[in-house]
Amino acid sequence: MTDPRADVGDGTRAVRAGLPDPVPYEPTLPGPVFAAHFHLPGEPTGPYTYGRDENPTWTHLERAISELEAPGRTVETVTFASGMAAISAVLFSQLSAGETVVLPDDGYQALPLLRERLEAYGVTVRTAPTGGDAQLRVLDGARLLWIETPSNPGLDVCDVRRLVRAAHDAGALVAVDNTLATPLGQRPLELGADFSVASDTKGMTGHGDILLGHVTSADPLLTAGVRRWRKVVGAIPGPMEAWLAHRSLATLQLRVDRQCATALELARALEKHGAVTGLRYPGLPGDPSHAVASGQMRRFGSVVSFVLPDRDRAERFLGALRLVDDATSFGGVRSTAERRGRWGGDAVPEGFIRFSVGAEDPEDIVADVLRALDETAG
Ligand SMILES: *Cc1c(COP(=O)(O)O)cnc(C)c1O
Repeated sequence: MTDPRADVGDGTRAVRAGLPDPVPYEPTLPGPVFAAHFHLPGEPTGPYTYGRDENPTWTHLERAISELEAPGRTVETVTFASGMAAISAVLFSQLSAGETVVLPDDGYQALPLLRERLEAYGVTVRTAPTGGDAQLRVLDGARLLWIETPSNPGLDVCDVRRLVRAAHDAGALVAVDNTLATPLGQRPLELGADFSVASDTKGMTGHGDILLGHVTSADPLLTAGVRRWRKVVGAIPGPMEAWLAHRSLATLQLRVDRQCATALELARALEKHGAVTGLRYPGLPGDPSHAVASGQMRRFGSVVSFVLPDRDRAERFLGALRLVDDATSFGGVRSTAERRGRWGGDAVPEGFIRFSVGAEDPEDIVADVLRALDETAG
């Protein structure tokens, strides 16, 4: 079966993704279905039986995400209540006691908590940094390789194709946390990964008002394990959240294009500012990640990171911003920034700022940042 939507551009795909065939007098995107159970005469074989197993609102969203993750290919997506629920589903459904997993040591800050749990269940955990494809060196005998690229918050990038080749040669599956890039920035399954996983709390839904996650794979056996895990632990998305997410996907390309363009402009402005060191943005031609990122990414993301001289300057800078909220998370339509070191757990300097670029007018954001930097000098 060829997908008529496979050849269109990203914006067209985003606005139509996952829509059911038109039904006269029905809405384009059917509203959220609130149901703990469904009418179910006879044997329980239909698509919708009990609300923890399946829900039609999830089905529409899952089809939409599949179209974005792998246009024109047959893949399956399973949605979850959060990004962590999606990540846990892959790790805990695929790994058994006695097996080995390779994680990044500079990835999302909850990975060490997962490590603790995995080790308690008898799984061996090895870690290595994202940059320089360092995970290659610890693949031997692993069952699963977990990649996060660009890494959060350090924005290092690894060569996904190269890591996938080595992992598959070593008999390991590969999962990519694609949260920062979104499928418009990078399509892990096309780069050879077995799983594309994301927190859709971030850029994917982009309004900072829901938590959600997903796992996509082209292998029905792998998705069956992930789906079963969701049913067993019950980490299911609410129908309202799933519907809001689907509605948000329509503007994904508009949001991401604006955010990426402004992020590059902001990075260029910060590059020239004397108070800023350690500037990172994979889209910046001089960035250490740029060459590898250019070979696998289609857009470079909404996050820019940099370092101010110390904690005090960083706090004063954040306080002086007028159009940027001091808040965690990223990928939303409203710019946010935070001093990442306040959480502990990330190996970053005290003055490290993670800046998430929103959908405001680029010149307003650049001006606000430069003004806040200059006002807090000295
Ligand atoms: C936020 C985030 C997560 C966790 O997602 P939640 O939706 O908060 O559970 C996982 N990975 C990355 C890279 C993230 O940024």
